[in-house]
Amino acid sequence: MTLFEDAVQKLKKNHYSVTKERQAVIRAMTAHLYECLTIHEIYVYSADLLPSISVPTVYRGVSLFCALHILRRLQFNMQHSYYELIGSEENENHPYCICRRCGRILGIFDPRVLEIFSVCKQKIDDSYNFRIESTNLIYYGLCKTCEQQEKHKINSKGGESM
Ligand SMILES: [Zn+2]
Repeated sequence: MTLFEDAVQKLKKNHYSVTKERQAVIRAMTAHLYECLTIHEIYVYSADLLPSISVPTVYRGVSLFCALHILRRLQFNMQHSYYELIGSEENENHPYCICRRCGRILGIFDPRVLEIFSVCKQKIDDSYNFRIESTNLIYYGLCKTCEQQEKHKINSKGGESM
């Protein structure tokens, strides 16, 4: 079952109708699978699919999806809330990468990465006798687009000085 089908099924199971607006919101989220999106971004991507959709409708849809555990709300800073798809597998404790230039946030769901983190957690648990309840792992750096732009900037500067 795809994440979209999974979300539709959760709506039906909880007696919510599968409106075209709710479908657009979920399609927008599944099209940006590993990204954590703000309401504004979800609105922009949803409006691409359904131009008549409004920000309050997107907001209500997102709130409903959070209540149904289809989306998870994240707070990385004071300015915005971000939302990510929960998916079928347990992925609550996974790392994030935040681009320091454009602010894009990616969730890392690679099973090998998650396995390493689970080993780390177990090791801390065993060796330090500390029961970890929650984890907050954030890597800061540059996304691919920003890295290319920075490289381009450096190269063009180099060109001027010659
Ligand atoms: Zn970036």
